[in-house]
Amino acid sequence: MSLRSRIVAAFSLISLAGCAGGSAAPPPASVAPATASPHLATGRWVRILATNDFHGTLEPRRDSRGVLRGGAATLAAEIRRARDECRAPQCTALLLDGGDEFQGTPASNLGFGRPVVALFNRLGRHAAALGNHEFDWGQDTLRARMRDASYPILGANVTDASGQDVAWIPDDTIVVVNGLRVGIIGIATVETPTSTKPSTVIDLRFVDPIPVVNRSARALRARGAQLVVVVAHAGGFCATTPTPSCEGEIFDLAQGVTERVVDAIVSGHTHSPVSIVVNDIPIVQARSHGSALGVMDVSLSGSSPVIALRDVLPDRIAPDPGVDSLVRAVMAPLQTLVNRPIAQVTDSMSGLVLGNFMADAYRSAGGGDVAVMNRGGVRAGLDSGTVTYGELFEIAPFANMLVRLTLTGTGLRAWLEKALGQPQLRAHLSGITVTYDSARAPGSRILSAVMSDGRPLVDTQSYRFVYSDFLNMNGDGLKATEGVERVEELGIVDIDALTDWVKRNSPVRAPRDARAIVRTP
Ligand SMILES: [Zn+2]
Repeated sequence: MSLRSRIVAAFSLISLAGCAGGSAAPPPASVAPATASPHLATGRWVRILATNDFHGTLEPRRDSRGVLRGGAATLAAEIRRARDECRAPQCTALLLDGGDEFQGTPASNLGFGRPVVALFNRLGRHAAALGNHEFDWGQDTLRARMRDASYPILGANVTDASGQDVAWIPDDTIVVVNGLRVGIIGIATVETPTSTKPSTVIDLRFVDPIPVVNRSARALRARGAQLVVVVAHAGGFCATTPTPSCEGEIFDLAQGVTERVVDAIVSGHTHSPVSIVVNDIPIVQARSHGSALGVMDVSLSGSSPVIALRDVLPDRIAPDPGVDSLVRAVMAPLQTLVNRPIAQVTDSMSGLVLGNFMADAYRSAGGGDVAVMNRGGVRAGLDSGTVTYGELFEIAPFANMLVRLTLTGTGLRAWLEKALGQPQLRAHLSGITVTYDSARAPGSRILSAVMSDGRPLVDTQSYRFVYSDFLNMNGDGLKATEGVERVEELGIVDIDALTDWVKRNSPVRAPRDARAIVRTP
């Protein structure tokens, strides 16, 4: 049976158990969280409570429909409710995380992740996967947070350049809960070297997790683990139409488990809803930012697993008072900074349009003919009304620095071909309009390239090209390498460029022009 058909078959078995699959967009707020779990009354169960990609989101956020979601205090209340349903001795609860805990908000970033560790310690976290963004502030900071944490942050597939295990990154652990010995293996995405600043992981290798998981799971069983769970900062996407199917790193991993040695997987990285069984292994991913809680019940007495994603809705459940106090204490000294009004915004922006807007900001700040913003770096939307510094910070939280290259026209054309040749376009452009044919072979897709003054790109001219140091370190595979005549580190932080641009353009309107136009003749 092929990988895809096996995943499709398993999908149909589990689809009644939870809100499986679909696009990454959250369901309508009318989807009520499950409040009871009658199946737990018979047999023996392990309830795995799972979060992932929390990204420092201590406070609730409104989604695109205006529904308030997440927030640490509400998440804590949902965790407590799910734990209360799981009573010893029939049921044992574990709290796990799929990685990317820290990066993304002023509250977390200004404390280099400390508030999130304080929260996770308080929640009684058993273990977490090692996310790519755990490396964003360098290995020393990550090691300090690992020391602060009462739970291990696991990365079994991380080695040094010679293939040796890295001593300071734990691989796995065995936790004993209600007398049950549970082995937990952590996995980091193989995309880590291009999805954090490459310089922070230059001495590390992120190797194929499949043999690592098979080997570690067997070893954990030999050490007495009665159950083995993988926490993996690796994800994928499920679709319900036209045919239910799932694709991505985590499904390949599940498919690669060769013996009956892994009982469950907590996934992350892709911010997507996942609740599915692949190769007899239940997998859960609870979107991102604490907006949902994964509840995965694994039977120790032969029943089928039951997987659900519970929406974390502040309007539906009272916050946990202790965690609410913790969040207030963290936020109090930041109020003046994050609530500072910057400008008026006329048009809400997200995705491609916001990426183009950010590229415009960087072109202006960096004095470029052309500028680029990477799609993965647009971390939140920009709502209409008064925009605050805190909101801008969450759009561009990485503190990347702007770099200006002087490129020959030939070099600029080569970079464009590289960007347009990627499986998905990851670059938002400013200062140039490119028409291309995506059906042509990568490297020969450009049909026309016109600069903002209306003149065509000339191969023999020089152009100033502005992007972030992340991209210049080949983040997202987008480093410009051909025809580079000069490299200038501008000493401008991306958030400062964005703040200045928003201020100067208030009331802010969305750029509506298309810059990368697909044309298939
Ligand atoms: Zn990630």
